[in-house]
Amino acid sequence: MIAQRTACETRNGWGNIMTHCSLACLIATGLAAGLLFSGEDPFTGQRERMVREQIEARGIRNADVLRMMRSTPRHLFVPEDVRKYAYSDRPLPIGLGQTISQPYVVALMTELLAAGKTDRVLEIGTGSGYQAAILAGTAKHVYTIEIVSELANSARDRLAAMGSKNVTVRLGDGYKGWPEEAPFDRIILTAAPPEVPQRLVEQLTRGGRLVAPVGDSPATQELVVVEKTMSGEIRRRAVAPVMFVPMVQGKESSK
Ligand code: SAH
Repeated sequence: MIAQRTACETRNGWGNIMTHCSLACLIATGLAAGLLFSGEDPFTGQRERMVREQIEARGIRNADVLRMMRSTPRHLFVPEDVRKYAYSDRPLPIGLGQTISQPYVVALMTELLAAGKTDRVLEIGTGSGYQAAILAGTAKHVYTIEIVSELANSARDRLAAMGSKNVTVRLGDGYKGWPEEAPFDRIILTAAPPEVPQRLVEQLTRGGRLVAPVGDSPATQELVVVEKTMSGEIRRRAVAPVMFVPMVQGKESSK
């Protein structure tokens, strides 16, 4: 079964100390940003091990996927209290009852999706924005829909802070897709519907591909790849048993 983070003195008469301290704060912040953008953050070693032991060892070979899994700071997508587990072989809670998928599942789904540099990708279930960030490095543009407003807002802010330019986050119901931007070359669902939603298949280009966990209950979900041939025929194959949060029906909620 694929289961899926300086204090400054502010009193009068402490001007010099304040100046030095502010300078120290600035240097620390600059250093952190520099480290982050050079990929030399304190989690680099853990991330490299994650890629080798959890992802390459299980057969993921796509160079874009491996490059993005190596360079994307997963620890910045999870809440502080679980940050030390960011590179562990498991899904993690991201708040509001939702989870970020296990790293291997993110890599597998990205490899199965096989988006190319000219592809426009639709993701249903933005969550933390991690999967969208990985996809963004393999595709032209990622459109991602999240039904919980707090998650949509925090993912949008997080991705913007990281300098991501080719991801658009929208609050909405993924069952409706994104008609204004359709069709999409690739569609990926990171929450499980009971059946592949017909509206999403309709928003797929000919020659396009959709990857989704599908099933009524977590116990019976499987990862499904749907292809729309150039003649418009639909082909579907199941790849692996998986466990995802359900894709919820209905109006955008603000929990
Ligand atoms: N891809 C995410 C993890 C997704 S968890 C990441 O990388 O962090 C599944 C997400 O799907 C949750 O955030 C949940 O709120 C969202 N979701 C569930 N039903 C949905 C729907 N109908 N439309 C859009 N998002 C939905």
